[in-house]
Amino acid sequence: MSPAAPSVVVTIDGPAGSGKSSAAEALAGRLGWQVLDTGAMYRAAGVLALERGVDPSNGPAVAAVLRQSVIDFDWSSSPPEIRLDGRPIGEAIRSPAATAAASAVAPHPEVRACLVESQRRIAAEHPRLVSEGRDQGSLVFPDALVRFYLDAPVEERARRRVRQWEAEGRIVELADVEQAIRERDRLDEHREVGPLRRPEAGVELETGSLDLEQVVDRLESTVREAMAEHRIVAEA
Ligand code: C5P
Repeated sequence: MSPAAPSVVVTIDGPAGSGKSSAAEALAGRLGWQVLDTGAMYRAAGVLALERGVDPSNGPAVAAVLRQSVIDFDWSSSPPEIRLDGRPIGEAIRSPAATAAASAVAPHPEVRACLVESQRRIAAEHPRLVSEGRDQGSLVFPDALVRFYLDAPVEERARRRVRQWEAEGRIVELADVEQAIRERDRLDEHREVGPLRRPEAGVELETGSLDLEQVVDRLESTVREAMAEHRIVAEA
């Protein structure tokens, strides 16, 4: 029997509010591929620390509880729902406390090593995958078929977040959201392991003046061109 063909991965990285989650989901839908939200995995690690009473900024302690737990996805739902030890936690990971805990666990090399290993295992199990995060093209999947980097001015990213939250009934101040995004950018860009980086030979897209449909059109045509060039078929 010949060995299984390697997985085909497309990565989408970018700062908070750059629109990468919605774009990744829509792109995966158009291609008929699976989508991996790696931010949800860092959020789940944050929730785990909070639930176990572990200080989220204590990397070795968080990694220790992570190794005794299972963070995975229910691939039968669309988009796949994150689970902690088999329990769906899709809602819990979006709370302000979980967001803060995710930022606190994310800089630690021990935590990143655990999650990066899971991300590569997931790619091996899902041979056509759109993976989004901060370090997916620069570190986790440097050989990805296409490595996108989405960006938008911080003011625009803050406006998008406010609109998103208002649609969910949450009232927030634009200035506070902008300040929080600037702080997350600073943390994402300056951590020593897995910082937010433009991947080498990546495809950059400025999304400030584009709507979601236009962004996804560009992503899709770039991926289809790359598939044709490398003779990759849509299904594994
Ligand atoms: O993208 P999202 O806001 O859900 O990310 C949650 C947290 O996980 C952020 O603090 C971000 O820095 C971190 N993260 C990360 N590496 C990734 C994806 C997210 O450090 N690949």
